Amino acid sequence: MKEKMPKNPWFIFFWISLFIIIFMLMNSTRQKAQEVELDYSQFKQNIKAGMISMVEVAPEIIKGQFKNEKGELLKFKTKPMNDPNLVKDLEENNVPKFNGVEKSWLTSFLLSWGPIILLLLFWFWMMRGMMGGGKQAMAFGKSKAKAANPNQTKVTFKDVAGCAEAKEELQEIVAFLKDPAKFQKLGGKIPKGVLLFGAPGTGKTLLAKAVAGEAGVPFFSASGSEFVEMFVGVGASRVRDLFEQGRKNAPSLLFIDEIDAVGRHRFAGIGGGHDEREQTLNQMLVEMDGFDTKEGVILIAATNRPDVLDPALLRPGRFDRQIVVPNPALSDRKEILDVHAKNIKIDAEVNLQVIAKRTPGFVGADLANIVNEAALLAARKDQTSANMKNFEEAIDRVMAGPARKSIVSTPDELKKIAYHESGHTIVAKMLPKADPVHKVSIIPRGQALGLTWQLPDGEKHLTTKEEAMDKIAVLFGGRAAEQIVFNELSTGASNDISQATKLATKMVTTFGMSDKIGPISLDKDSGGEVFLGRDISKNSHLSEKMSELVDIEIKKIIDDGLKTAMAILKKHKKIMDDMVAQLLKKETLDSDEIETIVKGRLEPVAG
Ligand code: ADP
Ligand code: ZN
Repeated sequence: MKEKMPKNPWFIFFWISLFIIIFMLMNSTRQKAQEVELDYSQFKQNIKAGMISMVEVAPEIIKGQFKNEKGELLKFKTKPMNDPNLVKDLEENNVPKFNGVEKSWLTSFLLSWGPIILLLLFWFWMMRGMMGGGKQAMAFGKSKAKAANPNQTKVTFKDVAGCAEAKEELQEIVAFLKDPAKFQKLGGKIPKGVLLFGAPGTGKTLLAKAVAGEAGVPFFSASGSEFVEMFVGVGASRVRDLFEQGRKNAPSLLFIDEIDAVGRHRFAGIGGGHDEREQTLNQMLVEMDGFDTKEGVILIAATNRPDVLDPALLRPGRFDRQIVVPNPALSDRKEILDVHAKNIKIDAEVNLQVIAKRTPGFVGADLANIVNEAALLAARKDQTSANMKNFEEAIDRVMAGPARKSIVSTPDELKKIAYHESGHTIVAKMLPKADPVHKVSIIPRGQALGLTWQLPDGEKHLTTKEEAMDKIAVLFGGRAAEQIVFNELSTGASNDISQATKLATKMVTTFGMSDKIGPISLDKDSGGEVFLGRDISKNSHLSEKMSELVDIEIKKIIDDGLKTAMAILKKHKKIMDDMVAQLLKKETLDSDEIETIVKGRLEPVAG
């Protein structure tokens, strides 16, 4: 979950301080306007002339009242000088009232230190923001591990659909936590830590909770990102605290989400790495080495980035058991939908198998979301239960964001969008290896002005070179259509271009699909996230000649893709015109309608 900055107490403090300083500055300038600033010499002359009626001497300023030539009573100020005779002069010239004043403690403090404090605050705030922390800084020290009462952790393996293999492997942990002594008597060897690998939303947290629920032990959870704090030492003390809680409540289960936030390769960044993270990681290693499994504490951690983890974490005696939590396959998706659909009312006609088929690549969290959205959509329409249409709309929403009917495009723009999307659709239809088109629409949704939905046939885990080439051609279908019909380019294709470029780059540098370069991995960021130190050191072996060749090969793939798309659309311009006419009329076309248009069995559209 992302937290918003303004909730941070530092942030509020920062604005209040800024406000006070501005107020003070304004105040002092206002006073300046009413005061006459005198030179020290003028001040002394005025004393001698008997014009001064009152003097206040502060360490850094002398203020007072004097009469000018016209007899007006005015305020003045002047800078004090090292003048031991001042008091004598004041006395000798019968100044009626004079005294020394101390500047108010607060004013002088704020004036001298305020800007520095402000800068420091601002710096802290920026650093925290940069590190994505944004957590309440006031609460440091204590781990924010949330304890869940064993009786409250009602989640069991029944609530986790699919992931049969993961559940199977975790059974052993459950058996151990249920009765650690018995388990050990039987000679079972238990791992200290289990690492769950899987994409976000695949149910890793849910699985960990279910282990605790099944075993009936307390569940303590924390997130790796909570450990990486601004202040050195805080993360380490939180780790200590988490383990202590676990030990006190043994047998118990500790869960650390996003462990990659802590457990990244040490010395990864330039400049020797991140002190705080390193300390936290070291503390975690110390705790893991220190505790004995006899105590009955098990640590489960989750990450979607196993590649960036410090190898030290994976050594025997630490996270020595690693379990993959895969994206759900078709049958698993159906099961997950079943689990969540139990909580809402659905029409008898709703076929969850069809929904499961339509959602390859979706993870458990997405599917839970779809069911939830369908229920909300039904409620919004005052239906008593969710129907298939609600589910269809829910899929689109989860996939691409809600439809944005509020965006009104001009007729010209709509026509361009229609051609753009028809371009994608027709290229996809004509290329044998491209994923089938499920739907095309010119209703804006999320960030997109129009959309072409493609779904792979069944479950696919491998992509061939031909498929990748076809994919790139389909991505360029939109731009090619614009170029053919309007002979001008718009910004609408920027996302397509970036996707095509990414894929082409991967083909050359990772998949070894370029004949000229061959199967060499030249991938510069295997992690995906920019990791300055590693990137540079990893890529330094790339000769200038090789980088040039890589660029040439990428460009060739891109050019080929665009050429293919152009050729197809030029040849089938008539079909494209038909599709655009239908799209402008109906806004959305489903796969049957697209099929009809492409097969040329279309009746001419009137108007
Ligand atoms: P992760 O920890 O892998 O990011 P979560 O465990 O937090 O994912 O999953 C988020 C939500 O998605 C869960 O609360 C649950 O509602 C749903 N979910 C995910 N996977 C499954 C699953 N296999 N079975 C049922 N629900 C699931
Ligand atoms: Zn496009």
